[in-house]
Amino acid sequence: MTRPLALVTGASRGVGAEIARQLAPTHDLLLGARPSERLETLATELGARTFAVDLADHAAVAGLAAAIPRLDVLVHSAGVASIGPVETTTASQWREMFEVNLLGAVELTRVLLPALRAARGHVVFLNSGAGKRANPGWSAYAASKFGLAAFADALRLEEQDLRVTSVFPGRIDTEMQQGIYAQEGRDYSPTGLLRASTVAAAVASAVRAPGDAHPTEVVLRPR
Ligand code: NAP
Repeated sequence: MTRPLALVTGASRGVGAEIARQLAPTHDLLLGARPSERLETLATELGARTFAVDLADHAAVAGLAAAIPRLDVLVHSAGVASIGPVETTTASQWREMFEVNLLGAVELTRVLLPALRAARGHVVFLNSGAGKRANPGWSAYAASKFGLAAFADALRLEEQDLRVTSVFPGRIDTEMQQGIYAQEGRDYSPTGLLRASTVAAAVASAVRAPGDAHPTEVVLRPR
């Protein structure tokens, strides 16, 4: 019997790589990220194929997506984060976060809709606590994630045969969080952060939820 196919973006490291590891026993995998040795190494380890593309390059994304006729699971974990006050957050920083966190996910979902419909598939968005509450210093990142939540909500209502899940985690021990600590001028420590494998387990659990259930939102705070 053929196994379900899952495309996981942001799979070269962090949460996306953990999601790929946890889906690998049950799913054929396409690992998304920009081309790199790290991505290739993980693909070899998991027996997966790569979906190696810059999500901001919409023509290239559409070209790769055209070769996927049927897709059971699409997990959007790719993301970028830079923080700072409104006064010093430049248009190019806003643009980069919107390009990757919002438009990258929107366009990839749009071009894969026929494949997702063919499988009555499941789309999972790695959102953030910042997609529910905009704290000082987080204007651009939070706005990109509020936008992503709105897109997920509209998609869920439009595409009634699909499952659409937004996952809203707090801070996670990944390279992204190390970068955020550096921007906050703090020494890094994983204490009090969620583990990437824990967030991945929540995603895998949503993906494996029996077909009569529609996990619409998962909110995870560090304990
Ligand atoms: P991460 O460790 O920084 O990994 C980010 C991933 O996104 C990498 O695989 C990276 O791949 C990919 N990516 C970035 N820019 C890309 C582009 N232009 N095209 C294609 N891929 C791109 O981040 P993470 O911590 O795992 O975060 C995963 C998701 O969870 C993100 O959406 C993030 O916003 C969200 N989140 C994170 C935290 C946290 O505390 N870490 C908390 C809440 C929510 P390459 O660089 O190899 O291309």
